[in-house]
Amino acid sequence: MPAKIIDGKKIADSILGKLKDKIKNSRQKPGLAIVLVGSNPASEIYVNSKEKSFEDVGGYCERHDLNEGISEIDLLNLLNSLNNNPKIHGILVQLPLPKQIDENLVTNSISPHKDVDGFTSVNLGHLFSENTILAPATARAVLHLIESTDIKIEGKNAVVVGRSNIVGKPVAMMLLEKNATVTICHSKTKNLVEHTKKADILVAAAGKPKLIKKEMVKEGAVVIDVGINRVDGRIIGDVDFENVKEVAGFITPVPGGVGPMTIAMLMENTLKAMELENKIKS
Ligand code: NAD
Repeated sequence: MPAKIIDGKKIADSILGKLKDKIKNSRQKPGLAIVLVGSNPASEIYVNSKEKSFEDVGGYCERHDLNEGISEIDLLNLLNSLNNNPKIHGILVQLPLPKQIDENLVTNSISPHKDVDGFTSVNLGHLFSENTILAPATARAVLHLIESTDIKIEGKNAVVVGRSNIVGKPVAMMLLEKNATVTICHSKTKNLVEHTKKADILVAAAGKPKLIKKEMVKEGAVVIDVGINRVDGRIIGDVDFENVKEVAGFITPVPGGVGPMTIAMLMENTLKAMELENKIKS
């Protein structure tokens, strides 16, 4: 039987609808600042769609489009002013940044309470110690999509392909927190199929088009495709969707899976950041 398709767009729209109602009934508007440096076309698409989604749910969005050649100190000064701006509850700096700028330094200069991407070392540390405050949106999206299948995560073999700090590692930590037995694979893993074939839950986050083939997937597995790859003007995932859907139990499409859910999770994180700030102030 072919896999059930997990409709990330539909689940995300339902979350965004609830956020919209919540914001409509709130006395305060959540504020999000989006910082884009340079004119990377993919980054511009992501930023436009985050801005639109946030305005659609009724939030206040402030965009800072900066010149490719901006100095590190000027960017840090902007982030400092956003950290101290009471209208702003969440700050997003779109990655990647130009070479002259230290990405790690910039990310960690965002106040952890406004770090709605969940990329600061403080927030990643909280996630690691199972004391999550603001967790990376894509990882949250992945967990949400797995949970939408009603499959129990506890005790399952979960395999995450990719070990980046912003996707692979946080996804693995969250699955571990849900009591899965987690394997993390990466570019130096030998015999990838040996691992993926054992996965009840398989998360592909390698950024390699169609890396995961049908013969690498266990029958009935939940397959979550995080990959976004531009090939011949089309966006495709890390999973060979057409063939893998013949063996998987559940599968996310690309586009329409993790992407829209990531945006919904970002919006949720911004509202959470506002609530957090209000709690600290009171
Ligand atoms: P990254 O390049 O930082 O990390 C990729 C990881 O994959 C690395 O750990 C690497 O070791 C591993 N890898 C690469 N080739 C491999 C192979 N052949 N076998 C096994 N492992 C391999 O990328 P990232 O930032 O983690 O993003 C991963 C993918 O997810 C990209 O396609 C990115 O565009 C996409 N992404 C999607 C969303 C979304 O909202 N849908 C958000 C973030 C990233």
